[in-house]
Amino acid sequence: MDLYVPDTEIARLEAALLSEDTLARLNVLVPLAWHLRQRDCQRALLLVNEAVLLSDDHALSEKESSTIKAHLALIRAEIHWLFGDLEQARREANQAFHLFEENGDQSALGDSYFLFCSIYRDLGDILQRDRCLQAAKEHYERAGDPLRVQIAFARQLHNSAIRDPQNTNTELLNHFQPEHNYHPAVLAWLASARAIIANKIGEMGESCRLHIQAHSAALETGQIRQAILAATNAGDSFATLGDMNAALEWDEIALKFARHNQWPSSVAIALLQTGNALRLLGRFEEAKDKLIESLESQAKISSSRTYAHTLAYLGDLSLDTGLPNQALQYFEQAAERIEAHNEAIFLSDCWRGQAIAYCRLNLPNEAHEKIRHALHIAREHQNIDEQIKCLRVYAELARKHPDFDGNALRMEVPAANLSLHYQLEALSLCQSIKGICIPADLLDSISDTYASISDFESAFHYSKLAAKAKENHRLHEAHNRAIAMQVRYENTRHRADAEYHRKIAASEAERAASLQEASNTLETLGLIGRELTANLNVESVFEALHRHVNDLLDATSFGISLLEPDGNTLRFVFGIENGVPIPSFETALDHPISSFARCARERQEIILEREPGATGRFIIPGTVATLSLLYTPLMIGDRLLGVMSIQSTRAHVYGERERSILRTLAAYGAIALDNASAYKQLQATLTALRETQNQLEEVSITDPLTGLRNRRFLLQNIESDVARTLRAYEDQISSPNELLNHPADSDLVFFMVDLDHFKSVNDTYGHACGDMVLMQMRDRLKNVFRESDYLVRWGGEEFLVVARTCNRKDAAIVAERIRQVVADTTFKLLDEIEISRTCSVGYASFPFMPHQPHLVKWAQVVNFADQGLYMVKKSGRNACIGIVHTEAMQADDFYNRVMRHPQQAAQSGLIHIVSHKTDDLDDTIHAS
Ligand code: GH3
Ligand code: MG
Ligand code: MG
Repeated sequence: MDLYVPDTEIARLEAALLSEDTLARLNVLVPLAWHLRQRDCQRALLLVNEAVLLSDDHALSEKESSTIKAHLALIRAEIHWLFGDLEQARREANQAFHLFEENGDQSALGDSYFLFCSIYRDLGDILQRDRCLQAAKEHYERAGDPLRVQIAFARQLHNSAIRDPQNTNTELLNHFQPEHNYHPAVLAWLASARAIIANKIGEMGESCRLHIQAHSAALETGQIRQAILAATNAGDSFATLGDMNAALEWDEIALKFARHNQWPSSVAIALLQTGNALRLLGRFEEAKDKLIESLESQAKISSSRTYAHTLAYLGDLSLDTGLPNQALQYFEQAAERIEAHNEAIFLSDCWRGQAIAYCRLNLPNEAHEKIRHALHIAREHQNIDEQIKCLRVYAELARKHPDFDGNALRMEVPAANLSLHYQLEALSLCQSIKGICIPADLLDSISDTYASISDFESAFHYSKLAAKAKENHRLHEAHNRAIAMQVRYENTRHRADAEYHRKIAASEAERAASLQEASNTLETLGLIGRELTANLNVESVFEALHRHVNDLLDATSFGISLLEPDGNTLRFVFGIENGVPIPSFETALDHPISSFARCARERQEIILEREPGATGRFIIPGTVATLSLLYTPLMIGDRLLGVMSIQSTRAHVYGERERSILRTLAAYGAIALDNASAYKQLQATLTALRETQNQLEEVSITDPLTGLRNRRFLLQNIESDVARTLRAYEDQISSPNELLNHPADSDLVFFMVDLDHFKSVNDTYGHACGDMVLMQMRDRLKNVFRESDYLVRWGGEEFLVVARTCNRKDAAIVAERIRQVVADTTFKLLDEIEISRTCSVGYASFPFMPHQPHLVKWAQVVNFADQGLYMVKKSGRNACIGIVHTEAMQADDFYNRVMRHPQQAAQSGLIHIVSHKTDDLDDTIHAS
């Protein structure tokens, strides 16, 4: 973090703060609070508090946490300093200092010292002030931070310029180039140092200019306290130039900043300068008010240099208003306090003030004592100006108290001559200063004194000199005023320039901020776009659009109308107003006043601003009359899908930003809706295809004439039945009681059914009648078997029925039932013809051998059933034969033996052939 940054950096940080959150926000909060510490104390403290909370919430490393803590403490310390809570400031700064010390952060340690310097300055401890500033500079050097080093150095020069302008100037010229463009943070101090030097060497115009430059640079870099000081100094220099208007103007600027911030030290110094300017203008009452207010405002910082100066100014004012007693008190207090500040000349000034007061209080002894000390200091410091002033006090003392014998010279010269002596000494000192304007009142006074001792020639001579001095003074004043005017003009121009640049910077910052916001919005919109377009459900797209519109925009109501397939109607498909759904409705595309319709027709965004209570509007029934309305078409290329609208009960809420957001949402929304409807169509097509495929499949496994299953179906489905049956048998075999029981209802029984002499139906009644018989055959089979059994048309008039989850014991009964329903009921042909037909049934069960379930495959069992049927046909038809297992264990060639010679196989006990053909099954079924 820099020590001071220009305002543009604040704009950048503010913009960063908008977009960041949590940890990233913390990283912006601390520098922003730091750089606002003088610009806006309240806000800085709020940010500090937020940073404390955030850093508590986050698991930061110990070092991170202590760095943040230290910076926050330093910010608080500086704010305490500004408000004159110097002890508190010192405590907080100490805390920061120790934390920085642990981390070894040289530049932050320097910053702590830099603040200590300010604190000791206000505490009036000049020695510590200078030590801290030196320490700050050394830490900055160790940190390798040349900018901070320059700032600290420039501040040192600023401090020493007051005490020692000459050497300071040499230092300054050695280390800082006059034309170089220094960083404004450096310039704030550098220009101030230069201004003080210019003031001391009488370059008042330059001093004004430099103070103003210091003020601007300080302001720009957030060194507000320094900016206030520079403004008061500018006022002081203008006052010296005699331009009291400019002086008061600058004092006013300083006072405005100071009062705004309520910093006691700044308020005090601004009031002090204003009071002094008013005093110089002879507005003593106002001056006194300001100076007293200044004193009061320094209650907390009464050890400061400013406090002492205020007292001295009040002393001057008291002398001006003929109150030497009061003046004496003020000067005494001032002198007491100034001693700590190591400002000899100011002390001399205070003693001189006391001397004048004593003199006017008729206490020449005391007066002499004070003025002697004052002159001594002035001589010691070779301050001519102060020496002249002291000598004039001596002159006044000699004139007013001619009998006073406290002076060594008193012995040698008469009283009038003594006064003259001091006056002439003062004059000769004046003449020693090149270019100084000799005070006319001194010359007048010398002339008067000569007259009093009857030296009229000399009196006349000095009177002429006085007149010339007055003339010179007027010229000088005019010259000064010209300089002041020049400075003011330059400053006005400079301020106009600065204002212009500030505006450019502000608009830059604004642009940056809005770009940042725009890019954030873009990023958000990008995410929204991805979310929307990933959505394949129309309703969800509506919901998502509504949610995002509410997040991003001011929308009392939100609605979407979609173009119906007829292309002439808009259907309001989704709408929410204040969280309540708006019912659907239709609008003709050529509706004369519907804005949805107009937007759809024109395929262009429409923005409307309505006056409250405006008539002639189309308002969706049951909705509120909104004031701001925005409609945007939902388009894919040049294909219109519909219109999206947002409306607000607030006026003028949709600017370019809002329109652009809605436009973007509409673009994504249109894609999403189109995707969703394409997806819906695709789904419909897929469903139709699947349906067709299912139908095809169904057809492929269905006999077209009877609707019964075909062989293909059986092949597709039988395996799973076989597997289940086998599992049931395997479980049974592995159980201890397997010999006693077969698993109940786990058999598959295959019945092969064939109509007898069917060919003759065709031959006699035609093929169609044959078909009719086949279909009636289907119905009869369906009646005999369960829904879950497979009815398969195996060939022409041959049917295979698979009774599932059946018990083989029931097979004979079922077979007989088939035979009966065919034989006992006539078949109805065309033209009411009824014929009787019989059928033959062969059957066999799977597993064929319950104890060897894998021995005979299901297809072989079907062949056994077919074999049974064949045997029925051979034996005269209209009967049932079951091929049934015996208890004997069977060998591998079992199947072939049965198929080749079933009768022999039966005789050898390989199988039973169960044959039956009567109505009473129980009695007639008999083994063959
Ligand atoms: P059997 O008692 O020995 O079974 O004699 P059958 O006449 O019933 O047997 P055959 O195999 O000699 O004749 C079957 C006839 O069934 C031959 C064929 O024309 C007829 N047929 C096959 N499919 C259809 C069909 O879908 N519709 C009609 N109407 N007749 C069919
Ligand atoms: Mg037949
Ligand atoms: Mg047949």
